[in-house]
Amino acid sequence: MVLLDGKYTAATIRAEIAERIAALVQSGRRAPRLGIVLVGHNPASETYVANKIKACNEVGITAEKIAFEDTVSEAELLARIDALNADPTMDGYIVQLPLPAHIDEGRISQAIDWRKDVDGLTPQNIGRTALGLPSLISATPRGIRELLARYGIQTAGKHVVVIGRSNIVGKPMAMLLMQRPYLSLPNMTASALGDATVTVCHSKTQNLRDICLSADIIIVAAGQPGLLTADMVRDGVVVVDVGINRIEDAAAARGYRLVGDVDFPSVAPKCSFISPVPGGVGPMTIVSLLQNTLQAYEHSR
Ligand code: NDP
Repeated sequence: MVLLDGKYTAATIRAEIAERIAALVQSGRRAPRLGIVLVGHNPASETYVANKIKACNEVGITAEKIAFEDTVSEAELLARIDALNADPTMDGYIVQLPLPAHIDEGRISQAIDWRKDVDGLTPQNIGRTALGLPSLISATPRGIRELLARYGIQTAGKHVVVIGRSNIVGKPMAMLLMQRPYLSLPNMTASALGDATVTVCHSKTQNLRDICLSADIIIVAAGQPGLLTADMVRDGVVVVDVGINRIEDAAAARGYRLVGDVDFPSVAPKCSFISPVPGGVGPMTIVSLLQNTLQAYEHSR
């Protein structure tokens, strides 16, 4: 069994991005610039934003927080989004979710210029991904694709089961896996990009166990600790665990620990490859935001 080490892989990619940006700056170009819109003072959001800014700064991306009080009106926020869309020096930006209840998240995300939508959430980016056109892809599926590719895991002709159908993980993941591999991306062989036979499962799926038993690759993004157990997988399967769940643990310093959706101790011995939680998909998601920002920057020239 080989661990899909997202921490190590993400560090490698960060070094590649830093090198690329240093070369751009040395050749006289400005650094890529990312804006992060944060409304209110949700402590979890504050932490995520601080981590994103730190990750950007470490590779040479100029990142800045654009903060609003939670009393901001939807119209004021939309006006700022229009300004960000029009600013040629702002390559990409994200709007940190959740937003306060009086603001319509759908209306906000639909106002973002898709060329700057480094979270890959606009209808244009999702539609372009579905059509196989160049697009900014939601960070987690992009990170998983990169992780599989960097470990040389081929998806062509394989049966991939995706558990979860959310717009940010399951759905775009399935689209990427099923597509014809006509997009060429760095560090990926064409056959690593798609051509899989994909089954998407969700909470209403019947016979999940039988479906999983016929899978070559299982990607679990359900938010249900221990959902995938040893009796649901065959020997040699590849498992990617996206879940992040807090489990109470009196022995842990914070009183909890993080686990995925996979019963790791029983499933791992049957796998050819498996991603751990933490240290698997999480770091790849963060690095995908950096890759998307660089992509938005390069397309804006
Ligand atoms: P959502 O809650 O939006 O979606 C969960 C999906 O799982 C839904 O489609 C749901 O079905 C399905 N599901 C829930 N329970 C079951 C079940 N028992 N059997 C089969 N399917 C089930 O979550 P997200 O996609 O946003 O996130 C999924 C998990 O991944 C979460 O733990 C989240 O914290 C984590 N995550 C991790 C990231 C990372 O960087 N590592 C990034 C993003 C998310 P239905 O549609 O029918 O409700």
